[in-house]
Amino acid sequence: MTKKPTDPTRRRILTGLGTLAAASMLPGRLAAQGSVHEADVLIIGGGMAGASTAFHLAEQGRDVLLLERGEIASEASGQNMGGLGGSGWGNNPNLLSYLTAGSAEIFKRMQIDMGYDMEFRLSGTLTAIHTEEEYDYYQDDVASQKAGGYQVDLLSPREARAIEPEANGELAAYMYRPERGQADPVKSTRAFAHAAEVAGATIHTGQNVVSITPLSSGGYSVQTVTSEYRCQSLVLATGAWCGPVGSMLGINIPIVPIRGQMWATASMPPRVMHTIGSTESSFEWSKDNGSDSVTPPNLTHKNGRRFTRHLYGRQRKNGEIIFGGDRESLGYNGTPDQAGIDVNRGHAADVIPLVASLPIARTWAGLMPFSVDGAPIIGKIPLRDNLFIVSGLASSGFGRGPMAGKLAADYIHTGNMNPVLAESDPARCVTE
Ligand SMILES: Cc1cc2nc3c(=O)[nH]c(=O)nc-3n(C[C@H](O)[C@H](O)[C@H](O)COP(=O)(O)OP(=O)(O)OC[C@H]3O[C@@H](n4cnc5c(N)ncnc54)[C@H](O)[C@@H]3O)c2cc1C
Repeated sequence: MTKKPTDPTRRRILTGLGTLAAASMLPGRLAAQGSVHEADVLIIGGGMAGASTAFHLAEQGRDVLLLERGEIASEASGQNMGGLGGSGWGNNPNLLSYLTAGSAEIFKRMQIDMGYDMEFRLSGTLTAIHTEEEYDYYQDDVASQKAGGYQVDLLSPREARAIEPEANGELAAYMYRPERGQADPVKSTRAFAHAAEVAGATIHTGQNVVSITPLSSGGYSVQTVTSEYRCQSLVLATGAWCGPVGSMLGINIPIVPIRGQMWATASMPPRVMHTIGSTESSFEWSKDNGSDSVTPPNLTHKNGRRFTRHLYGRQRKNGEIIFGGDRESLGYNGTPDQAGIDVNRGHAADVIPLVASLPIARTWAGLMPFSVDGAPIIGKIPLRDNLFIVSGLASSGFGRGPMAGKLAADYIHTGNMNPVLAESDPARCVTE
C-alpha cells in the first residue's frame, strides 16, 4: 500500500458500529472513544531505530504510524553519549560498514541537505592505547584494518597532542579514526521523527502498548492503554524492551537491558575536539568477551564484579565534557551508580588529565538493547506474518540506528532483504 508522502488526511480513523465490537473488548477509555486507528505499517518504539524506520518508510510513500509510550528519544536514544562509530566503508562492506558508514551518510543528509540542526560533525575519534602490550596488539589490528580499506591510523602521543592538545602525552599511543563523529542524541532522534512526519508518517506519543493480537484477517491489533491500532505489518523497535513486547506475541526475543551510565562537567569553553575512547576494554574482550548462554559479550561487569573499564566521551556543543562507559546487566535498573561513575572518571582522567580537576555536575543512566549473541537483530521474524524487528544495536544504536532503520524500511517496502542483513537475521535467535 503506498500513498503520497504529504497527505496526512489519508490516516483512517474507523468509527461507528463496525468498531464497537472490538472496542467493547478494550480498556474503558477506548470504548468511550470508540475509535480504531489504522495504518499499513505500525512501528512500536520512538528511539533512533523506530524514528529512522518511520522516516525511510514514509519517504517511500508508505502509510506508517509510530507509537511511543513516552516522548520521542525518551530512552537510550536520548540518553547516550552521541558518538558515531565506524572507519569508513572498507573494500568489501559488511553489515558493520553499512551501519556505521551508511549512518554517517544519513546524518550528513539530514543536517547538511535537509537543514536539521543535530550538532553533527565528523570530529574523528582518538582512542588511547595505555600499555606496550595493548600497543603490540593494536599495531597488528590497525594493519589488518588498513589492508581491508578502513580509515584508521596509529599516532604517537606527540602526534595525538597536535590534534587534541588535552590528550595525555604519557600514554603508549593513540588510534585515530577520522570517519567517526558526534551528534546531539535528542536533537538527532527528534529530527528523524520530524522528517518522518513531514514525509507523511503519523506519530502518537504517550501510547504504551500493552497487548498485541494477530487478526484472523491478517495483520495485527495493537492495544495501548487508551486506544486500538490495526496494521498489516508490525515493526518492533522497542530497544531494551523487545523482550517484554515479544512476550505479547508469544515469542522470545533474546535482548537484555544493559545499563550504561554517564556524567558531565559544567559547561566550559572548547577544550576537547574529538570523541575520546580507550582500548583497555576491547583489549580485555579480545582475550575473553565474558559471554555465556544468557550473558551478552563485551560487558564491563560479570556476576556483580568489574571485569574491565570502558570509556567514551566528548565535549558537547553546550560546553559540557561528558564521559561514560560501564555496561552492566541489572535488569531494568536505570539508576546511576556513583562507584562506577568514579571509576569512569579516573579512566577519563588517564586519557584527558584536565577532567581530574573538573567536578561532576550531573550523572544519568539508560538501558541499552544488547542481544545475547552480540549481533544486531534486524529483519523479518519468520515465526509470525509480516512481523519485523530493528534492534539489538547494543552500545552503538545511536550511531548505527539511522542505517538500521533504512535497511529495515527497504526490506519492508520491497520485500527483498539486502544480503548484508544475513548477519542480523532474527531467524537465528528469535524463538517461540
Ligand atoms: C549511557 C549510554 C551511552 C551510549 N552511548 C552511545 C554512543 O555514544 N553511540 C551510540 O551509537 N550509541 C550509544 N548508546 C547506545 C544507544 O543509545 C542505543 O543503542 C540506541 O539508542 C537504541 O535505540 P533504540 O531505538 O533501539 O532504543 P530506544 O532509544 O531505547 O527506544 C526504544 C523506545 O521504545 C519505547 N517502548 C518500549 N516499550 C514500549 C511499549 N510497550 N509501548 C510503546 N513504546 C515502547 C521506549 O519508550 C523507547 O523510547 C549509549 C547508550 C547509553 C544508555
